[in-house]
Amino acid sequence: MQNINVLVEGKRVVKIAPSEILTNPDRVIDATGLFLAPGLVDPQVHFREPGMEYKEDIESGSRAAVKGGFTAVISMPNTSPIADHAAIVAKMWQRSQQIGLCKVYPTAAVTVGLKGESLTDFASLKAAGAIALTDDGRGVQRDDLFLQALAKAKVVDLPVLDHSEDEALSAGGAIHKGEVSARYKVKGIDADSEAVHVERGCEFSATTGGHYHVLHVSTARSIQAVRKAKAAGHRVTAEVSPHHLLLCDEDIPLRAGGDLDANWKMNPPLRSKQDRDACKAALLDGTIDAIATDHAPHAPDEKRLPIEEAPFGIIGLETAFPLIYTHFVKNGTLPLARCVDLMSKQAGGLFGLRCGRIAEGSLADLVLFNLDQPFVVDESFFASKSKNSPFVGYELFGRTKMTMMEGSIVFESQEYQR
Ligand SMILES: [Zn+2]
Repeated sequence: MQNINVLVEGKRVVKIAPSEILTNPDRVIDATGLFLAPGLVDPQVHFREPGMEYKEDIESGSRAAVKGGFTAVISMPNTSPIADHAAIVAKMWQRSQQIGLCKVYPTAAVTVGLKGESLTDFASLKAAGAIALTDDGRGVQRDDLFLQALAKAKVVDLPVLDHSEDEALSAGGAIHKGEVSARYKVKGIDADSEAVHVERGCEFSATTGGHYHVLHVSTARSIQAVRKAKAAGHRVTAEVSPHHLLLCDEDIPLRAGGDLDANWKMNPPLRSKQDRDACKAALLDGTIDAIATDHAPHAPDEKRLPIEEAPFGIIGLETAFPLIYTHFVKNGTLPLARCVDLMSKQAGGLFGLRCGRIAEGSLADLVLFNLDQPFVVDESFFASKSKNSPFVGYELFGRTKMTMMEGSIVFESQEYQR
């Protein structure tokens, strides 16, 4: 790492030089010893506004994002009401602009009401600001409808983000179907419920030429399908979440009452060790295009329910970079530049966003990380309204010192010295 000076004026980086570049700037930020990266981009978050603001809203979600070093996130349409019509999509984008902390790009539903029965109006949703189409939270069950969706999405040039889940194989499950689910007599979610839909999507992408993106990939068989489709040159991309890289079903701890802790419950669930290792291998060999948190806040009383009844999802914005940095970069498994690309340039590139590079003329979306000083994740660490994370208690490196979005400082840590 070298010492450089970066001059920001208005919304942009205007000069990068090795020595003094301005004699009396408004503010000098001494970043000695810190790591300067382009603002991170998260392809999948749930900000719960409108409808479930007690879990999170666009403002608290944005605060969590910038605390984690993210300057852009892609929000999922399973709000209440659902983002399946132009007016709500436009409103969500306006709200994010008003708050002005982080760019919260809306997606829109593939099917009306996420019901899987009829397609939404893709052209009007795109005109309103949707940057992708997805029924996330559910998979589109009908094959004919999903094929049509990919064909029509190609016409309007939007990616289809697939929560790949064949409900005939997963319905009623709470955790991965395997030894752990059998031991605790909890109904399991078959790994093939994901893979059969990923295989279907890859096939339909080949047929239609549409951009098929696999959200939160979690199984070895799904990854194999993505690898094959990419090798054949089809428009298939995939993201993985930090928890599927670092945890497996055997890690789910017991609570005081002797039952499984619902803070380890998400969909897709923590899979087997073999699936986790396949995710790691795919990250390292380039099969994976981006890292996504699937930030899914839920209130403490909801997560205190028995694991069968608690909602799916964990938060992830504040811990994503520290987890990947600590467990992949610091130990030499993944180059730092690759980690940053997976979390910025490539993540934004899925949606055609130009980001992930610090250059003269580029938007000043910047983040300063402290890579050297460890910290322990506790509940007070989270800016999110919710605290449902399996990583509480982890010691990590890579805490954010400062985040700048389009030239404005949107997060600055007062909690620790450099
Ligand atoms: Zn999902």
